[in-house]
Amino acid sequence: MRKVSIFGATGSIGQNTIDLIRRAPEAYDVVALTGGANIARLAEDAIALRADLAVTAYDDRLPDLRAALEGSGVEAAAGQAALVEAAARPADWIMSAIVGAAGLAPGLEALKHGTTLALANKESLVCAGRLLLETAEQNGARLLPVDSEHSAVFQGLAGEDIEAVERIVITASGGAFRDWPLEDLPKATLAQASSHPNWDMGQRITIDSASMFNKALEVIETREYFGVRPDQIEVLVHPESLVHALVGFNDGALMAHLGAADMRHAIGYALHWPDRQHLPVERLDLARIGQLNFRAPDPARYPALRLAYEVMERGGMMGAAFNAAKEQALDEFIAGRIRFTDMTAVTEAVLERFSAESGLIDAAMTLDNVTRVDHLARQEAAGAAEKRIG
Ligand code: NAD
Ligand code: MG
Repeated sequence: MRKVSIFGATGSIGQNTIDLIRRAPEAYDVVALTGGANIARLAEDAIALRADLAVTAYDDRLPDLRAALEGSGVEAAAGQAALVEAAARPADWIMSAIVGAAGLAPGLEALKHGTTLALANKESLVCAGRLLLETAEQNGARLLPVDSEHSAVFQGLAGEDIEAVERIVITASGGAFRDWPLEDLPKATLAQASSHPNWDMGQRITIDSASMFNKALEVIETREYFGVRPDQIEVLVHPESLVHALVGFNDGALMAHLGAADMRHAIGYALHWPDRQHLPVERLDLARIGQLNFRAPDPARYPALRLAYEVMERGGMMGAAFNAAKEQALDEFIAGRIRFTDMTAVTEAVLERFSAESGLIDAAMTLDNVTRVDHLARQEAAGAAEKRIG
């Protein structure tokens, strides 16, 4: 039996992971499940999967979690330190599916213990890619991509020499507003931004898909994970979301990965890697689909993409500042304090401000320093949002 833990178990990726594990309960020994405010979901799954431990991220929810787990034999814990402690518990495979920079500390802890980390939490690679990769290497741990595009690239590279790669193309659906007149974008509401044309995901990544901040994070994720240069990474709008990524080689070959828009494919690939096993995802009928469309992303519609290349150019801990500013701007939009298009303006203001701060951005990449940059960038973004309101 393989020992597995799921961080962010109550979210969209977490629930898809649980779906796969429940189909073969005899194969898995569940160590820890973690969640946030949805205590009922967390407790129900922890009991059903006979987990050793359930952790809520919120200290004040511990009494509720204890009550929900009473008599089940599942241990209850809460708070940041408990999340990190859960990541230190021996496991063969851990799913990192917390949303946001909050996933970094537990992910890093799992790698320190040599655990294989299936990484859906792209924000941690954007914030501290080098730190994660070095920690994995020093401890003989493995990082496996779960983002659909990165899983697709990873599969396209199997058996290939990275030196023969000319370019990596990741696709984007174009999000909720791909066909809107540009002048309507500032009026986009939260409900409109929270619906995705093809994928069923958590609210934050869905809004990030409409603004392309998600793809901006993924461009940086591609650079960190595969070690290619920024000028080798391209984004292609593909409204059908069936081609997830393409790898271009030095002989002109372009290897595409196709599959249904179902995250259980990428999760399952990381779960069974290096083997392939049967997965309950739809098989594509290309004759019925008939055609696939592609177009270049419009820089005026998706200014967030340009920011990703500026962040990579600047280097240091600019990724941590970028992600934190973006997370704060998203909070401000969700709270109704700024407009949809203000998210890019707020994030860009923070990047401009931080770019010259070499004492901060070029300090050693440690968890403490990344956390410091993250806090300061959130403050700065809140200030920039305030200015846009006033
Ligand atoms: P979600 O919002 O559905 O779930 C997030 C999970 O993280 C929940 O369990 C929540 O309780 C927990 N959480 C939230 N804030 C937390 C905090 N501060 N501390 C600890 N736990 C916290 O999100 P999701 O859509 O499942 O996305 C999870 C991660 O996977 C994100 O990094 C996202 O970018 C990535 N991802 C998601 C998809 C998708 O299809 N949903 C696809 C690719 C990548
Ligand atoms: Mg993706």
